[in-house]
Amino acid sequence: MTQPIQPLTRQACWRQELACAYTSPEQLAAALALPADALMSARSAAQQFSLRVPRGYAARMRRGDLNDPLLKQVWPVADEMERQQGFFGDPVGDLAAMPVPGLLHKYHGRVLLVVGGACAVHCRYCFRRHFPYGQANALARQRDRVLDYIGQDESISEVILSGGDPLSVSDSHLSALVGQLAQIPHVKRLRIHTRLPVMLPERVDNALLAWISAFPRQVIVVFHTNHANEIDQSVARGFARLSTIGVTLLNQSVLLKGVNDDADALCELSEALYASGVLPYYLHMLDKVQGAAHFQVSADYALQLMDIVRQRLPGYLVPNLVYEQAGALSKLPLTGGVRK
Ligand SMILES: *Cc1c(COP(=O)(O)O)cnc(C)c1O
Ligand code: SF4
Repeated sequence: MTQPIQPLTRQACWRQELACAYTSPEQLAAALALPADALMSARSAAQQFSLRVPRGYAARMRRGDLNDPLLKQVWPVADEMERQQGFFGDPVGDLAAMPVPGLLHKYHGRVLLVVGGACAVHCRYCFRRHFPYGQANALARQRDRVLDYIGQDESISEVILSGGDPLSVSDSHLSALVGQLAQIPHVKRLRIHTRLPVMLPERVDNALLAWISAFPRQVIVVFHTNHANEIDQSVARGFARLSTIGVTLLNQSVLLKGVNDDADALCELSEALYASGVLPYYLHMLDKVQGAAHFQVSADYALQLMDIVRQRLPGYLVPNLVYEQAGALSKLPLTGGVRK
């Protein structure tokens, strides 16, 4: 289905939007009229991993409600500062799977490039919150080595741009990199994992569409959306613009306690995604990163939720429930016995 590309009212201003994101608990608390007693612990937790929330994203939150599912993803809390057994700095073995700094080669046929450390938002559960972005960036000094590595291994058919958020990088850098990837004949697909179109829909501007369209083979964009309330009209418009240029649109979510750990929320998310032309791909169990233990949902409960979701939705709207294990050759499906 093709539609004309809809004009954006505020063209090319995503950098300004990014620059004026909330970066302190005080600002966000004032904007949302949050109770003052939440500020103290937010301040201390934000010292370890700073707060960052785009204004447009905050505008989708309920005022005065610390339990808002969007706010919960970004609001620093005291629980983050507790050391929990079994939670680590590098929970998924990223540092052991980097043949070239910034290039992760864990799975057959696919490499993942860390092309930028910046994000439009700081998600409190982020599994890369301790990642050494400074040293490991596929775009910086490493670019030639990364391209050599991909060029020399014909089994690599898909290159994934990740980060941080790869779309926090400028279009000129991305366009140059993608142009070079296009020269490698065995790279059949380009995949972009990003949360920016949800956080900052202005990012889906003409410059972005131009370099994506210029890639001569298939392109997949995997968004990261955790709750239906994250998708407002402007986000849906961004999705539609990408769809118009023939990009396959998928979504991955993280199962998060207090955010989306109920069947209604998961079903609504799948429905909202599909209404905007996006298919749910993965629902990830939380990676056990230090500071995120309070978001953990038990495997048993996750399986129960998926049973309900499967009963309520068509199969194509049911994401694959997976977890990541250091050293495994794929994401691993979380499965249980047959339940009635
Ligand atoms: C998740 C991931 C991929 C992609 O896995 P798919 O199952 O193809 O989505 C590739 N490389 C790394 C390092 C990953 O973490
Ligand atoms: S956008 Fe992704 S990489 Fe960035 S903080 Fe959130 S989860 Fe982490």
